[in-house]
Amino acid sequence: MTTVATDVFNVHARLECLTCGRVQPPSSTWGGCVACGDQEPVVVTYDPTLALTDAAEVARTLTPTLPEHVLDLGQGATPLVAAPELAANLHLKVEGQNPTGSHKDRFQAIAVGLARALGYPGVVTSSTGNHGAAAAAFAARAGLRCLVCLHPEAPPALMSQIASYGAAIAIVPGREGELISRLVDGGWYPATSADPALAGRANPYGSEGYKRIAFEIVETLGDVPPVVAVAAASGDTLYGIWRGFQDLHERLGLRVPGLLACQPVGSAPLALALREDGRGVVSEPHSLALSVRDASSGRHASRLVRSHVALPVTVEEDQLADATRALAAHGFCVEPASALALAGLRLARERGVVASEAPAVAILTSSGLNWTRDLDVIVGAPPVHRSIEAALEAADVV
Ligand SMILES: [Zn+2]
Repeated sequence: MTTVATDVFNVHARLECLTCGRVQPPSSTWGGCVACGDQEPVVVTYDPTLALTDAAEVARTLTPTLPEHVLDLGQGATPLVAAPELAANLHLKVEGQNPTGSHKDRFQAIAVGLARALGYPGVVTSSTGNHGAAAAAFAARAGLRCLVCLHPEAPPALMSQIASYGAAIAIVPGREGELISRLVDGGWYPATSADPALAGRANPYGSEGYKRIAFEIVETLGDVPPVVAVAAASGDTLYGIWRGFQDLHERLGLRVPGLLACQPVGSAPLALALREDGRGVVSEPHSLALSVRDASSGRHASRLVRSHVALPVTVEEDQLADATRALAAHGFCVEPASALALAGLRLARERGVVASEAPAVAILTSSGLNWTRDLDVIVGAPPVHRSIEAALEAADVV
């Protein structure tokens, strides 16, 4: 099914192939560029002649769909908290305060909203947990059916959350793309990432939701920070945040920050993409940070790395654990994958890749509340004292 719905999409929006440059109207095509034989990813761009005067107008105007089609569960407008005790000149963007506990709500508010506007009966996605929870929540909000292909190691808390929204869960390791393709061929909507090579079918619209992270940072700080660090997996988050800053740059002349794309050393396809000047595929990805344990990142994100717009930073597991503990010790309970942003920033400063005093924002993509199983691995079992005497001793009051 290919639909061009002028009452759904923004008239200024278009789909652009990053490989051949072909531009086409936004539509329900989910296989990447139709002109490129190998299904290259397409991204959303906007009429470059459109004159915009300020950041609020950029945020309001450069959205893929008409605003009434974006679903609302209260997502976005997350806090930006100064945290100099964790690193000099650091602000933390606390995305865990989104409705389902992660930044993925920004993606699905647009993606699932579009599914409803186009009249799809159901949405399908593949996920290690966060992406699926967001898809399920917004599908419930939209009154649509939802099926989430979950990673077999997805945390139980997220499975329960997904089920609570009424979504179905499939665990079919290695065959997620096949299931998604069959559902989409059967008329369902793919709420998947932007590169069709990753999940069988691609959704170029959802990552536009991440632009608001950039817009909100600039609005709160009143300026573009020199450095922004974020964990990267499929690359939609990295791409979307960059796209937000790039929109402000192209339309208003603002600078673009140095982006740190933080990945665990055992699963760092973006670093591989840079070294090998290709896409980068990790043969046996491993890390405690399940959300970013990807064999490859999307080609849209790989391009950012190869063009030196984003710098890949690889983080050792003990550094990831240290950053998770440090954040929690200062009141920020995050999913371990989120802590990659702080760990990567610290590494980049130590190595002199970015100036150590340059103001930086680390994106804490996800709350730790859904990932207590993995936090226990890092922090250890909760220290419960089962007698008054032991509790007093633990508090140094005897
Ligand atoms: Zn193309």
